[in-house]
Amino acid sequence: MFKKVLIANRGEIALRIIRACREMGVLTVAVHSTADANSMAVRLADESVCIGPPAARDSYLNIPAILSAAALTGVDAIHPGYGFLSENAQFARMVEEHGFVFIGPTPEHIEMMGDKVTAKKTVMALGLPVVPGSEGGVSDAEEGLKIAEDMGFPIIIKASSGGGGKGMQVVRAAGDFIESFYRARTEAKANFGDDTVYIEKFLSNPRHIEIQVFGDTHGNAVHLGERDCSTQRRHQKLVEEGPSPVLTEALRDKIGSQAAETIRKMGYRGAGTIEFLYENGEFYFMEMNTRIQVEHPVTEMITGIDLIAEQIRVAAGEPLSIQAERMRFRGHAIEIRINAEDPNNFTPSPGKIVQFHAPGGLGVRFDSAIYAGYTIPPYYDSMIGKLIVHGRTRDECIRRLRRAIRETIVAGIKTTLPLHEWILQQPEFISGDYTIHWLEEKLKNRK
Ligand code: ADP
Repeated sequence: MFKKVLIANRGEIALRIIRACREMGVLTVAVHSTADANSMAVRLADESVCIGPPAARDSYLNIPAILSAAALTGVDAIHPGYGFLSENAQFARMVEEHGFVFIGPTPEHIEMMGDKVTAKKTVMALGLPVVPGSEGGVSDAEEGLKIAEDMGFPIIIKASSGGGGKGMQVVRAAGDFIESFYRARTEAKANFGDDTVYIEKFLSNPRHIEIQVFGDTHGNAVHLGERDCSTQRRHQKLVEEGPSPVLTEALRDKIGSQAAETIRKMGYRGAGTIEFLYENGEFYFMEMNTRIQVEHPVTEMITGIDLIAEQIRVAAGEPLSIQAERMRFRGHAIEIRINAEDPNNFTPSPGKIVQFHAPGGLGVRFDSAIYAGYTIPPYYDSMIGKLIVHGRTRDECIRRLRRAIRETIVAGIKTTLPLHEWILQQPEFISGDYTIHWLEEKLKNRK
């Protein structure tokens, strides 16, 4: 096992990794920007190193500074968390070239899945169902239009290097195609430095259901069930839950074993998430994330498995401690993402937290790095914490979550907690009968 791990991240996930390390007897190094000198991660880690000014490109994305900090503190491994450098194959490669272990998959697997066109081709060849669409990248607008017309509208144009729900264009009629095509390419180039786009059938009422998978270096591969992340705004997840209210055990077993089999054939190591759209009983692969995800606690709550600890063990060369035959899913879990944003118009609301009280009680987990007196810097993602609740049934879980939200106090800034309170009152959410479009539609008529 490693003696010391560097965490190349910030916020709640940095804290989450420190917690796992401490329980495993592994020392931690927090790297931070000047804006994060007072962060909880810096306070709780065994050591900390400042790696640059506030802008992420100068600090959390500054590879030479992070590698220097790793050398200086003598760590064995680097955990990238999510976002920032977590899916940067070049970073993973440099980490290993400098003699550290990258806590994640191989650079080759990151590269393969980071390019969505390649990812789709790869998993299709391994037997996963994919969203119908262009066979690869499309560079010619007229050719794209032909593909779209053959498939039938609506269609969605997506960036091959895309992420974070950015740069997708839904086209509903042939007359709008050419303009949207050029817009998608320009946005892809501007956001991801690569103008390769591809075309998919736009599914009109799907759910977003993803499977948590795990592989090790001994040829083992398992799945840990699904998370339903259909409650989204602008293609970004706001609420995640597991199990999905619409999956039967048979469907779960089927898609779960297909997902596990796919990564086994790939020789994939570490944590991964295979994202699907699900409509009318059918799954369609969308993409695979080669890292730990924001919503991983949902799976932890229903399986009792510490996914970060498992990542660390696998990276240290140990076999998976999870055995498929012994996996049990217990009860229901829901996670809400709390953002420092105005709940009405979603504008960021950084600033000082003057008063703070975390919710508690049976089945309640609050993953966050905030504290009373903490000032949220304006430079980073607006997510300031996650509230995750477990219950024996979905109904109990919803009631517990409402109760926990009412206990939570984050004064001084605006947060999306009132929005979540409202979501939990909506009949669509309560019945579990919702799709990826429901929230957006509902928000249009919110009083
Ligand atoms: P990103 O990596 O940017 O998050 P994804 O491919 O995961 O992009 O898609 C994000 C979201 O966009 C999905 O959860 C879904 O809401 C929507 N989406 C993507 N592809 C389609 C499609 N073919 N039909 C309908 N919605 C889609």
